[in-house]
Amino acid sequence: MAHYDPNNIFAKILRGELPAYRVYEDDDTLVFMDIMPRSDGHMLVIPKTPCRNVLDASPAQLASVLATVQKMSHAAMQAFDAQGITLQQFNEEAGGQEVFHLHFHILPRHDGDTVRPPGEMADPAVLQAHAEKMRATLEIG
Ligand code: 5GP
Repeated sequence: MAHYDPNNIFAKILRGELPAYRVYEDDDTLVFMDIMPRSDGHMLVIPKTPCRNVLDASPAQLASVLATVQKMSHAAMQAFDAQGITLQQFNEEAGGQEVFHLHFHILPRHDGDTVRPPGEMADPAVLQAHAEKMRATLEIG
């Protein structure tokens, strides 16, 4: 397996070198909106420390990321009036991974909906509004 590349897009977002619509952070994890959302409210949860994916992550990295995934899933159910949550996570190119910093996708879902096709960039105003909605929900609890 290849080594971790500190110049991947998510590492640059973590360092503040690239912008992102940030939703939440704690000591170990960061959450921001996916720029090409497959559903309204599609977010990404990443560890603040380097690892490519599940295959080289430490148990501690996985535990902190999954705790944040659960917290965001609860908030997303409320913020987007969702009826369900789809989690996605890809490992290495053959596994469908495109950005090589561990991340979990959180997709709020509604009864009977279908996910949008990949590669469709969202309106920045919509991403900002969705990030704000999540932040407000997390504040109120
Ligand atoms: P994966 O590695 O899980 O296959 O896909 C990477 C995900 O990152 C995709 O859902 C894609 O839309 C998202 N993505 C790619 N580049 C950026 C970016 O610059 N900013 C944000 N917020 N998301 C990105």
